[in-house]
Amino acid sequence: MTLLVNMKLLIQKLSLSGQETVDVSGQKAVLVSNGRGQSPFVIVCDHASNRIPARYGDLGLTPSERLSHIAWDPGALAVSRELSDLLDAPLVQSTVSRIIIDCNRELDAPDLIWTLSETTRIAANENLDAEERQYRIDHFHRPYHASIETLLEARRHAGRETILVCMHSFTPVYHGVPRPWPIGLIHGLDTGFTSALYDALGDDDPSLNIGWNEPYAALNGVTLTLEKHGDGRGLDATMIEIRHDEILEPAGVTLWADRLARCLEKARQTRKGAMAV
Ligand SMILES: [Zn+2]
Repeated sequence: MTLLVNMKLLIQKLSLSGQETVDVSGQKAVLVSNGRGQSPFVIVCDHASNRIPARYGDLGLTPSERLSHIAWDPGALAVSRELSDLLDAPLVQSTVSRIIIDCNRELDAPDLIWTLSETTRIAANENLDAEERQYRIDHFHRPYHASIETLLEARRHAGRETILVCMHSFTPVYHGVPRPWPIGLIHGLDTGFTSALYDALGDDDPSLNIGWNEPYAALNGVTLTLEKHGDGRGLDATMIEIRHDEILEPAGVTLWADRLARCLEKARQTRKGAMAV
């Protein structure tokens, strides 16, 4: 009984995580939805939001730049939410634009705070002093990862199976080069679950052009969340990138959420079968 009470307290704390750090408008730096979800899958969305906290104004960017892929991953949160509902999975999302600080970068990465994103110069981020840099780390980057950590730690204590799904989207054309894959899968140190998901997606639709470590790979330094919380904990984990144009409309979001729900579960069953042999 004591264990049960402790678990309930832990989960209550978990569902409150992310509320401790807020910006001047009172906005949380991170949101945890469905923290008590029963699914083995946990969905995280690093680039869910294009919100620029009030203290930064418009960061010197035009409205269209603030709506573009340089500020966030359009559609990624919509797919994550539908997937969370379909699977009954917890969802952790950053509420701050990646151009304030990129939550999927190491603290010493040169692109932690972008000054040039594709072809857009972000002059307001140039020559930041140490104090402002630390402010962004303390108020946005650390709380996001702390919330993921709290969630995963609670599940570990409870003996719950966890598979980490890092959800992103990518721009169809980058530096003038078209990207042909509607979906790309990226693995960390352990390829096992990502490989099973690749096979499941291919079985689901043999005509699907699935990018393997496309449009990026771990070597490009874009997999902090996957490696820190997936590989770092010895969990099955994968990073999913969907091309923006696939998920701009609700029908596309639903199509991909349905497909991913089916294929993630199929990949999980494949892995269980392989481990039982
Ligand atoms: Zn992203």
